[in-house]
Amino acid sequence: MAKLTDETRASLRRRSRLVNLGRDVEFSQGFVNVPPFRGSTVLYPDVATLKSRAQRFTYGTRGTPTTEALSSAWSELAGAAGTVLAPSGLAAIIVALMTALKAGDHLLMTDSVYEPSRAFADKALRRFGIETSYYDPTIGAGIDALMRPNTRAVLTESPGSLTLEVQDIPAIAEVAHARGACVILDNTWATPLFFSPHAHGVDLAVEAGTKYLSGHADLLLGLVSGNEQWFERLHRTIHLMAIPPGAEDVFLALRGLRTMELRLREAERQGLALAHWLSDRPEVLRVVHPALPDHPGHALWKRDFTGSSGLFSIVLKPVSEAGVAAFLDGLELFGLGYSWGGYESLAVPFDCTATRTATRFAPGGPTVRFSVGLEDIEDLKADLDRGFARLRATA
Ligand SMILES: *Cc1c(COP(=O)(O)O)cnc(C)c1O
Repeated sequence: MAKLTDETRASLRRRSRLVNLGRDVEFSQGFVNVPPFRGSTVLYPDVATLKSRAQRFTYGTRGTPTTEALSSAWSELAGAAGTVLAPSGLAAIIVALMTALKAGDHLLMTDSVYEPSRAFADKALRRFGIETSYYDPTIGAGIDALMRPNTRAVLTESPGSLTLEVQDIPAIAEVAHARGACVILDNTWATPLFFSPHAHGVDLAVEAGTKYLSGHADLLLGLVSGNEQWFERLHRTIHLMAIPPGAEDVFLALRGLRTMELRLREAERQGLALAHWLSDRPEVLRVVHPALPDHPGHALWKRDFTGSSGLFSIVLKPVSEAGVAAFLDGLELFGLGYSWGGYESLAVPFDCTATRTATRFAPGGPTVRFSVGLEDIEDLKADLDRGFARLRATA
């Protein structure tokens, strides 16, 4: 097998890239996969090399062949200048914020943001003299009115991972860039396969690799990709922070990358099938899924995304808390738990009433989020059907 030439590499279509990116034969000794390199110390041949650090790998916190394989593959997928890794998705968000902000700065964060990102801003960034205010996720170019002279970053998350609002990222990026602010996107729902972050104006794109990249609910990982303008600063920040993920987790993420498109396409197919089925249920007030034409963000989703993943929500018609619990507690295939993007289906009740500060959360009934896995769709429907019967029995 000949080495991939730069010319062939540049011409590869996406599925071929997912199979081939990051596979450096120099490191794998002919084996198909780059192994998990575990290590702190890297040995140098002589004093001169040690002093100049003029070799590819210098210390465990500064990258290994395994982390480099994943970073380089991810950069090509995301259309980024470079990618850094962190030990969790939340850690990756923190790395992006630490890259863009300093004491005295102001941060704008979408009201639909992943709750732990909000907690970090309110409880940690505040202590370091960085003020955060929240904005309506559907604000688009209207964000201009909220920009202050010291606004240095705008954090977006599209769609929001509970409430699924789609944001007009290009419009926000145009305003933010005109004001000299960094645009950060939590792109976990779409992944670079369904939303190309940097082509839409994002400076730092975060992915919780814990979700679809892993695909098996068995690891925690975060990635931040940066465009030409921001990658140097991102790289410096991660070196200062020195928070590398574990070698085995990076190895498993690379393995997940090879099948990510297949799994995402299936998640999309299953998700849509279940969303349509739920739309017709008498117990359901509304299905919240960006790929459904009645979703308020559907036109934006259609303009900017190339697919939908398997994460969406429903609003139940008003029913008691006991009714919701009866619906969820007896589910046999849907697990009850946080995180998502694994091969197994999950359901989780949520309520954003207490967390929102810029918008009002009033969906009209109890809300439940689903992550659709790889089980047979008819079995999943039957599981939910039995759940709805339990819910009705509590009325
Ligand atoms: C899960 C999640 C994260 C955080 O990932 P962890 O690896 O669990 O820290 C960040 N953003 C979104 C949208 C998520 O769903």
